[in-house]
Amino acid sequence: MKTHRIYYDDAYVKEFDARVMHCEVLPPDVNSGITAQVWGLVLDRTAFYPTSGGQPNDLGRIGDANVLDVRDDGDEIIHFVDHRPASPDVLGCVNWPRRFDHMQQHSGQHLLSAMFQERYGRTTVSFHLGADFCTIDLRGPEPSDEILEGAERAANKIIFEDRSLTVRYGTAEDLAELGVRKEVDRPGILRAIEIEGADLQPCGGTHVKSTGQIGTLLVRRCTKMRQDWRVEFVCGGRAERAARQDFLRLRAAADKMSCAPEELVAAVERVISERDANFKRVRALLQRLAEVEAAEAVREAAPRSDGLCVVHRVFEDVEPEFLGHFATHVAKTEKSIALLARLGCGHVLFAQHPTAAKDMNALLKEVLAKVGGKGGGTRDFARGRLDDATQAEKALALARELLSSSQAAD
Ligand SMILES: [Zn+2]
Repeated sequence: MKTHRIYYDDAYVKEFDARVMHCEVLPPDVNSGITAQVWGLVLDRTAFYPTSGGQPNDLGRIGDANVLDVRDDGDEIIHFVDHRPASPDVLGCVNWPRRFDHMQQHSGQHLLSAMFQERYGRTTVSFHLGADFCTIDLRGPEPSDEILEGAERAANKIIFEDRSLTVRYGTAEDLAELGVRKEVDRPGILRAIEIEGADLQPCGGTHVKSTGQIGTLLVRRCTKMRQDWRVEFVCGGRAERAARQDFLRLRAAADKMSCAPEELVAAVERVISERDANFKRVRALLQRLAEVEAAEAVREAAPRSDGLCVVHRVFEDVEPEFLGHFATHVAKTEKSIALLARLGCGHVLFAQHPTAAKDMNALLKEVLAKVGGKGGGTRDFARGRLDDATQAEKALALARELLSSSQAAD
């Protein structure tokens, strides 16, 4: 039996009387979030819109049951409800704020797609009405900011003119003759939505009566989506909330920067350039500090009987690059060797002046084989990482021992 779709001709019906034609228990559908037992209800007529054409389904109540989902099943519309209505004669009640929001977004989409098409030759290949944002996918090259703003301005101009939206019926041929935006190749009578003097588009969705009810339209991000460009937008109440949120974020950021919202970009640019300059300065200072500390360490290290000067140190709370600078400076002194490690990350670094004549790579490999870790390098400079950072002291003690036993690392 065919369900009469009230919303096709009047999208503003919020309450309606209907008769239950069929009611059956349906299995849970975990994929759509329905985990409890539900009933599938078919009515003789309905104002509930089923998910289709990018527009989500309505919610609301039928009798004393909650509507959890509405699906299009060919001729019939199936309402998923949480229990069987007590009487076959029911009163349907559509959750109107949700539906009206969908109408604002969907009508806004037709208008925006028409502006992209008419002014910039960009064709909409798909539409999605999400919980927070709506998107259309545009075919073709990346739309510039001028195109995005131009389409937004043109759509808002038509919104301010409060032009009428009407439902038209006709064959594909009839619609083609009327200049439909997207031609369809389907037999029979088709439904299309006309925006006065702006657009005609085949559609089964619900729409506002006139463009003024779209409220306003804001185009937001544009990102690449496979071969197309996905344009985010919001209309009506969503545009109001998005603009308010944007302002609150802007003001919070400006407060943090102690500036006016309109000065925020300049303030952020200033902070970033200061940060970059400070970063360079810190690096230069670290290098100076490593040089001074390394020189002191070489002075303090008592030369061994074989004339080698071995500096060993486990660092804590230093920048990772500090080890490199420190080692490089130690290895500038003849017959010197640096055995370094860093707690926390477990980095180890062995370096020597070539006159020390050991093999840092072989030494590191031998230490890592015993303590556990990965790494390598050259005869004069080798670095690695311990599997267990707390073994840093042990690794350095082992390296010193190996350096002392004459056969190792020579
Ligand atoms: Zn549509």
